[in-house]
Amino acid sequence: MSVLWELPLDDEAKYWVDIAGNLNRQYFVPLAAELDRCQRYPWENVERLAASGLSGLMIPKEYGGAGASLATGVAVMAELARGCASTSAIFAIHAMGAGALTIAASPAQQERYFADIMTGNAVSFALTERGAGSDPAALAATGTPEGGQWRLRGEKIFIGNGGASKHYVAFVRTDPEAGRRGISAFVTNLDDEGTVVDKYADRMGLRGSRTSNLKLDTLVGDDRLLGELGGGLRIAMATLNSGRIMVAAQALGLATAAFEHASTEAVHRSTFGRPIIENQGISFRLADVATRLTAARALTWQAAHAGADSRQTRALASMAKLFTSEVAHEAVDLAVQAYGGDGYCKPNPVERIYRDQRIVEIFEGSSEIQRLTLGRAIAEAASKHIYEPLERASAAYGHEANW
Ligand SMILES: Cc1cc2nc3c(=O)[nH]c(=O)nc-3n(C[C@H](O)[C@H](O)[C@H](O)COP(=O)(O)OP(=O)(O)OC[C@H]3O[C@@H](n4cnc5c(N)ncnc54)[C@H](O)[C@@H]3O)c2cc1C
Repeated sequence: MSVLWELPLDDEAKYWVDIAGNLNRQYFVPLAAELDRCQRYPWENVERLAASGLSGLMIPKEYGGAGASLATGVAVMAELARGCASTSAIFAIHAMGAGALTIAASPAQQERYFADIMTGNAVSFALTERGAGSDPAALAATGTPEGGQWRLRGEKIFIGNGGASKHYVAFVRTDPEAGRRGISAFVTNLDDEGTVVDKYADRMGLRGSRTSNLKLDTLVGDDRLLGELGGGLRIAMATLNSGRIMVAAQALGLATAAFEHASTEAVHRSTFGRPIIENQGISFRLADVATRLTAARALTWQAAHAGADSRQTRALASMAKLFTSEVAHEAVDLAVQAYGGDGYCKPNPVERIYRDQRIVEIFEGSSEIQRLTLGRAIAEAASKHIYEPLERASAAYGHEANW
């Protein structure tokens, strides 16, 4: 029994969350500390995600996937992240690759790449470059015509699941004069000459997942172009829309784990002859986290149900990621504090969760970028409001301020 509001799962979501929960209990949770300590990529977990059907959770049924809704994806992601954040990051790449392909790929491309994702050969999302993280429109990688094909050149950084994924959706500039409309998306893979993964990042958290650079000097045909030429940034932004909701779900999982550890410890740890939860300094913080975590769950759930790529959905996705990742920050901080010195030391799980949490405030658009996006949306909406100058309102009120 928890005081936290539970996501109102339908039968489909319950079925998949149960599967994720069983995998957590049997395999993912017991392995989490070792993956973190050794910075080891868990191929066995990838196989389990594939064998259970979770790798194909978001893939349409006509291609052999489960065709699950984004809301089911959110519920599964929250469950996986509650058990092992690194494994949830691997699951996120499977979902994100499926998302980009669902938005933009031709039926032939979907047939080909969905089949690979379902067997655990993920499709990574390769957008970020040195100098083009928060501002992807500034990217410098190029795609130029060469002998009836496309020469992709450049270097992508921080690519999730790099080296473990077989395929990469790489965003490159195909028209230097066209600004945001001059970026296109191509699928390249590790079998292509000149598609090279190097330089794995040694990370603070999510150490069982992988993050690498991707060097491109590779020739691909038109059959690798995703969507329209020049439509790459639109594909990236639409993919990030649901990606941000999935990161919010990941943050929910981390926050829930932290809250459960913190509240349990607070009941069982005593100082000055009584459990620390009997001090308002602790119980009030737990109450605040429980309240805000419940609100974060409701907001993320609402964002997952908002539907197609509308302005409202974009705003809700930004709000969910922003709010939930910051609630997760508060929750992991409280968990470490509740354990005292033990919380600061390995192998306490809260020490790992504390490090795992930090990235959800950075990737797929940092908290500052979510605020920037929301600020722009607010300005755009407010500029359409009828503006009533204050002088006119004062005249209508029949009173002139004369103090
Ligand atoms: C573990 C990990 C996994 C990742 N996975 C992927 C992936 O799979 N694919 C991919 O393409 N990328 C991936 N990334 C990249 C990630 O999305 C970027 O790191 C992130 O978007 C921030 O970009 P940046 O690192 O270039 O920081 P910068 O853009 O240089 O920003 C630096 C700081 O300045 C702030 N800032 C920037 N502009 C503004 C502004 N206008 N106003 C206020 N503050 C601002 C930012 O919020 C940030 O705090 C990953 C990164 C990590 C660490």
